[in-house]
Formats: sequence, structure tokens, C-alpha cells
Amino acid sequence: MSFASLGLSAELVRAVTERGYTEPTPIQAQAIPVILKGGDLMGGAQTGTGKTAGFTLPLLQRLADKQVVGKGHIRALVLTPTRELAAQVEESVRMYGKHLPLKSMMMFGGVNINPQIKQLLGRVDILVATPGRLLDHLQQKTVDLSHVEILVLDEADRMLDMGFIRDIKRVIAVLPKKRQNLLFSATFSDEIKLLADGLLTNPALIEVARRNQTAELIEQRVYPVDRERKRDLLTHLITENNWFQVLVFTRTKHGANNLADHLNKHDIPAMAIHGNKSQAARTRALAEFKTAKLQVLVATDIAARGIDISELPHVVNYELPNVAEDYVHRIGRTGRAGSSGEASSLVCIDEKKLLNDIERLIKRDIPVVNVPGFDVDPRIKAEPILNGSNRGQGGGGRGQGQGQGRGQPRAGGAGRTGGAPRTGGGKPAGAPKPAGAGRGPVPSGAQHRSGGRGR
Ligand code: AMP
Repeated sequence: MSFASLGLSAELVRAVTERGYTEPTPIQAQAIPVILKGGDLMGGAQTGTGKTAGFTLPLLQRLADKQVVGKGHIRALVLTPTRELAAQVEESVRMYGKHLPLKSMMMFGGVNINPQIKQLLGRVDILVATPGRLLDHLQQKTVDLSHVEILVLDEADRMLDMGFIRDIKRVIAVLPKKRQNLLFSATFSDEIKLLADGLLTNPALIEVARRNQTAELIEQRVYPVDRERKRDLLTHLITENNWFQVLVFTRTKHGANNLADHLNKHDIPAMAIHGNKSQAARTRALAEFKTAKLQVLVATDIAARGIDISELPHVVNYELPNVAEDYVHRIGRTGRAGSSGEASSLVCIDEKKLLNDIERLIKRDIPVVNVPGFDVDPRIKAEPILNGSNRGQGGGGRGQGQGQGRGQPRAGGAGRTGGAPRTGGGKPAGAPKPAGAGRGPVPSGAQHRSGGRGR
């Protein structure tokens, strides 16, 4: 299947070809024709599936098909939960739209509002914004949304998690009633269904497998460790195994700062990103990390949301997330687009329950690795790791395994998205219910289990 066969114009096909994409991902193959026809869409897809191009390409085409002369108005509005995601989406809009005469703008808080006000005085066809700052502009009457034809809610579940529901509703209230609505969400909680129900008309339902569902390429490991020794263990793992481009998740902003300081003191270049950091600091840290100048990026879940860092070799859960689903989001940042990756979790005794929840969600036990020299709380039972990959062959024994296992054959061919997308038309009774509804689909399929841990 080609992009042209989906009905995209020559300008857009040229842009994606220049970007190096040869064929559409499943979400793109499903979403693009629906959006081109002008229908509403409920997309079950998360970052990494190619969803951004999935809505950006047809959105650009619809706007380009109906050119407006002169300064024009804002005709498409994309709402995202975070500044980073807004920046990324807007960059995609610019890239895919580079052969079209359309102008885009990104808008988020944490930066001076005046340049935004100035930019809004010029031509803006597509506005990519976070809800808070957009509301500021609405209140100051510095933005006019009365000509919006297409509304996109990207990562809607995240926006709700972050408490943006009222802001979103206030924005929707000022939009023209007749418009096309596209909602993307990785999960389908009751709250999302309620939002979708009020927003979408006869939506097509498209769901693609969670990235991790096919990500057999992710080597997951649990490192049992006493709470006080986590920093040392992390330093040890990074140094001993020469890990580069390590994304480390902490639960708190304070914890992120402390950990970054600790790593820097041990000659491991690290920076923290979280909501209290200025936009300039976040952008700088991300840029340095992406270009591999920065060895470690320590992030809170919210700061990391939506960040597209592809083919990341290492994700570390310095602390397990409170919500098991966040584990899936976090580790999904590694092993992307066919490249292998390692997801390591440093787990202390207080996190045993969280670990159980995660293993229940992902429907498998995560291999446990004991690192010699790091006292393990005896209540977290470790099991021998076999050749670092726990695949059941070869010898093993306590203490083996950390940092090994790369370069070994892995199960599955794993395309970048895989999975069977499902489409449904027509508005179902009540809210849209893509298959796997509830708290979302879970990864499955990888064969990496060692003997049961007897839960
Ligand atoms: P997204 O899910 O939109 O964040 O996209 C995830 C990554 O996939 C981004 O780095 C995109 O550049 C990349 N991508 C999007 N579409 C394609 C495609 N058709 N082929 C290859 N890579 C793609």
C-alpha cells in the first residue's frame, strides 16, 4: 500500500517520501481515508504508531483543497496535553505541509505570551496548542476560533489525566458547531467515552495495537534493590554497561532533580525534565538527549508524555509508576521501529505490589536480575537469569545477566506497529467502544518468561 493510494495529494506524498517513509503504518492506512472524507474519528493509538502523520496528512489536504485567500483564519485546531507534544506535532505539520501554502503555529504556556499574540495577528491556518495557554488567549480575545473546521484532541486520555477536561470543554464551546472532530487516545476510560460521546458524530473507530503489543524487542528486567541503594545501582548499571541515551523515570520532580545531580557527581552527564523546568531548559535537555550529547535524561511521567525519542536503547524505571498502565507507556519508548531496547526497573520492597499489578497487566513475569554487590531485600524473590535473556537456554545463575542479552536473536519479526487494526463505522449505542476497551489493550505475545514466580 502506498500513501498515494490512500488519496493523498502529490505535495503530501512528496513530503512523506522526502521524510523517508515508504508505506503507511496501520493507523495511517485506516485513518487517512476516513479523515479525507470528512468524517469524525475516534482513534485508539498512542505515540509511536505514526498517528501524528495519520491525522496531519489528511488534515493538511482538506485545508489545502479549500484554499482561502488573504490572511484567513485558524481552520484547524490541535490540542495536546504537553508543550513537548505540541512542539512535535507542529513540527510534523510544518514538515508534511512544506509543499503547501499553509501556515501553522504552536502555542503553549511557560513562555512569554506576547510573541504568540503577535504571531496570531498574521496568518495561521493550523494552531497546535496546549489547553491552558489557549484559554488565556481566548480570555484576552487574542485568538479567534470561530472558523475552525477541524478539531483534533491528541492524547485525549493524557489531557484528562492532567485535569484539562474543563479547559477542553471551554475551548470546544467557542468552536463552530459544524466541524470535523478527531480524537486520539491510548486508552478508553469511561471519562474518555463520555467526552467522545459528546464530541463525535458517527465516528469511525480505529484502533491499532499498542506499540508494545508487538514489541518483542523490548528486554524487560527487574533489578531488586534496597531503596537507599537505588542511586548507586543505577550509577553502577550505567557505568558498567556503558549505557547511553538512558531515559530514567522518577515519580517526583524533586526526585528527578536529586537523581540528575547524583549522576552528574559521578561523571554521568544527566539532566532532569519536569513541569517546574522552564521551557527553554526542557527544550535544551531534549535536544541534547536526542542528539546523544546527553547520556541520561531523568523525567517525570508528565514531562515525558508524548515525547518522540525514537529507537531509545534504555528506559529505566527508577521508581515504578503508581498506575500500571504508565509502565507500558514508559517502556514503549524503547525498542521502537524495529530496534531493540532494554527496559530496566529498579524495584524495592515497597514496590512489590506495583510490580505485581504491572505483571498482571502485561500478562507476564518480568525476569529478575540480581546484581552482585547490591544487597537484595530477601523479600523480593529473585530467580536466576539465563544468559541475560531468560529464554530458557544455557546456564545461568545469580548475578548474571545485567547488560547482557543484546544482539541475541529475539522472538518475532516486529514491524513498527503491526497488530490488526480494526475499523468500525457508525456510532455505536452509547459511547464508541473499540475492542480492548476498559483500561486499554495490553501487550502480549512475547515469549520471554522464565519459570513462574509463583504469584
Ligand atoms: P507518532 O506515533 O506520530 O509519534 O510517530 C512515531 C514515529 O514514527 C515518528 O518518529 C515518525 O516520524 C515515524 N513515522 C510515522 N509514520 C511513519 C511511516 N509511515 N513510516 C515510517 N516511520 C513513520
